[in-house]
Amino acid sequence: MHAGAGGDILAVMSTRRDFLTSAAVTTASLAAIGGAVRSVSAGQPAAAQPATGGGDTHRGVCVIASGNGLAAVNRAMELLNQGYDPADCIVQGVKIVEDDPNDQSVGYGGLPNEEGIVELDASVMHGPTHKSGAVASIRNIKNPAQVALLVLRRTNHCLLVGDGALRFAKQMGFPEENLLTEASRLAWLKWKANVGRDDFWLNDDERDEPVGRVWTADGPGKLSMVDHTDVQHLTGTIHCSAVTAKGDVSSCTTTSGLSWKIPGRVGDSPIIGAGNYCDNEVGAAGCTGRGESAIVNLSAYTMVMLMEQGKTPQEAAIIAAKRMVDRAKEKRLKGPDGKPRFGCSFYAVRKDGAYGAASINGGSFAVHDGKEGRVLPTVSLY
Ligand code: ASP
Repeated sequence: MHAGAGGDILAVMSTRRDFLTSAAVTTASLAAIGGAVRSVSAGQPAAAQPATGGGDTHRGVCVIASGNGLAAVNRAMELLNQGYDPADCIVQGVKIVEDDPNDQSVGYGGLPNEEGIVELDASVMHGPTHKSGAVASIRNIKNPAQVALLVLRRTNHCLLVGDGALRFAKQMGFPEENLLTEASRLAWLKWKANVGRDDFWLNDDERDEPVGRVWTADGPGKLSMVDHTDVQHLTGTIHCSAVTAKGDVSSCTTTSGLSWKIPGRVGDSPIIGAGNYCDNEVGAAGCTGRGESAIVNLSAYTMVMLMEQGKTPQEAAIIAAKRMVDRAKEKRLKGPDGKPRFGCSFYAVRKDGAYGAASINGGSFAVHDGKEGRVLPTVSLY
């Protein structure tokens, strides 16, 4: 389960990935990567392990993804080696995560909106044609990244939303499926029951235990009426970008978005330039974490532009992270210590195969450098 930082809707937009490691940026490590970040505007960066800036020296075929994407980078590399288009490679890679019911941040089994309905966002950008395709708030379709790729390939549009996206997917032959797993339904129910005291749903501590076993919707149930599911505000996403041996790039981001979101909410993942962007002349980038921040900062586009201006992928990722923190002006987004109360991770790969990743609050990323797939800690601001 992808656990956020807590129950506060404003504080909880970090993904589990953002907390998997705590490789925060030290002064020395920042100096080692060229001093791309000289200071952080609020709070003090935590003491930490050395940053992983080694990706900047890599050259050649490469696939990078968020920390939940090890299987995705391995699959994408396998397909790259078989000569598939890079967009197909990454879309097939992220499909593994979309299909996985245990990843509650993406595709099937994703956590639903506030009404208990799973709504997915995804986008694909193809470097060689500089074309994008995306779907947002799509329901009942397990693999939105594949639908996004078909929007790219089969239409003159960039983004289809809601019911129109679903109709397009069905026209393309995708079956409608119930995406809400039992685990995700129970997590939603737990949240729904405990969201407030002034509604008609009884909170856990307001329910009395029955004197014997109870019958639930699917038959004989357990004794306890108190649900012990561990529910925090949960988010997550997979981003995946690839560069071929010839230097062609493509990028993809797919997600169930922020859990318990207002129906119709669209995050950064399907917004080209926000959660996903590539330019065949430069490279590819994407991010996972607080989508609203990635939208107002156009974080993926920013990373690609920074690389075009000569920054390394590692530097570009760190600068994008720092810009997001600097521009978090709303008071609710920072704690009393001035540190961000949200998380976001940034991934970048240059067309020559150099790569880098950074996070605001610690995180990890997956990379396949042509030799092996690995999960590594990101450089982190805090
Ligand atoms: N970026 C995603 C969104 O805002 C959520 C996440 O990556 O955790 O929809």
